[in-house]
Amino acid sequence: MYPQIVIDINKYKQNIKYLVDRCTNRGVKVWIVTKSFCAYPDIVSHLVDCGIDGLADSRIQNLKKMKDIRVKKILLRIPMIDEAEDVVLWSDYSLNSEIDTIRALGEKAKKIGKRHRVIIMLDMGDLREGVWPDDIDDFIKEVLKVDGVEIKGFGTNLTCYGGVIPDENNLGRLTSIAQDMANKYSLDIEYISGGNSSSYYLLEDGRLPNGINNLRLGEVAILGRETAFGKKIDSLSDDTFILKAEIVEIKKKPSVPIGNIGMDAFGNKPHYEDRGIIKRAIVAIGRQDINPEGLTPLDKNIDILGASSDHTILDVTRSNINYKVGDVVEFKLDYGSLLKAMTSEYVNKVVI
Ligand SMILES: *Cc1c(COP(=O)(O)O)cnc(C)c1O
Repeated sequence: MYPQIVIDINKYKQNIKYLVDRCTNRGVKVWIVTKSFCAYPDIVSHLVDCGIDGLADSRIQNLKKMKDIRVKKILLRIPMIDEAEDVVLWSDYSLNSEIDTIRALGEKAKKIGKRHRVIIMLDMGDLREGVWPDDIDDFIKEVLKVDGVEIKGFGTNLTCYGGVIPDENNLGRLTSIAQDMANKYSLDIEYISGGNSSSYYLLEDGRLPNGINNLRLGEVAILGRETAFGKKIDSLSDDTFILKAEIVEIKKKPSVPIGNIGMDAFGNKPHYEDRGIIKRAIVAIGRQDINPEGLTPLDKNIDILGASSDHTILDVTRSNINYKVGDVVEFKLDYGSLLKAMTSEYVNKVVI
């Protein structure tokens, strides 16, 4: 059934194996991040034999779905106090930056007779989550008073809100703070987690600071590109996930609408390029499932003209293929479209 997203599990596994291999050679353990595909069980079940150290997701519901998979599970988004019980039940580690939340985790952990492992996040400048480095000493003192939790490491996240690129400077500071704290408070530090796919380029360049022993990798494994500069990595596939959508109308029509132009379906005043009479195809997928800007047709002679909630309009005039109603058009997806398509219940997921 269309639309569908086809996951080439072998390509995806090859990508992961390559990354794990590169990282392991440099003493870096890999957590594969499953949030962009909602930890879809038919995908996740294939990943445990790829040499990974753990599976990480931002949503506790996704980690719960993996409860029968025997691998370390890490909650990436700093927890809500409201979900503390689920966090200690379904994750082995969680990333944290708030003392009240850590207290709530400790409470729940004690209640079920567990000790919950926390990774303390430091904000190295990207201004999303993390304890400010000046405050870390006081913060650790408070965490050490909490029963039921153990500090198992430090981490940071970059290139998410602020667009800050990981480098020897910010990641070097992370390692030195982590090591100072570990020495000062005799912490049993298992991880110094140096970021997401945007830190991977440092490892390829041999510039990842000593001491960083973990990366949390999502996008680079799926889309085959690092995310600090957006560079394709030669040895990785960039077509592990492919979207297929069916043509429901194909007609020759003008490229500029007829009549007075008001607003489009999303309240924007549109602009149209005059391409004369063109052959236009409508595929049955829309903004509810993808961002049209985030799709790349595999047929390089197709242009995407726009989309409303349920329709995406293509200019197929230049294509060598004589498309007909019922034909299927294939696309690569960027991160945002992948996220939407995997989350959309209208898009079938097919693992091959
Ligand atoms: C999403 C996320 C990641 C993975 O990011 P990618 O760019 O997909 O590798 C890593 N860490 C945290 C905290 C995240 O939220």
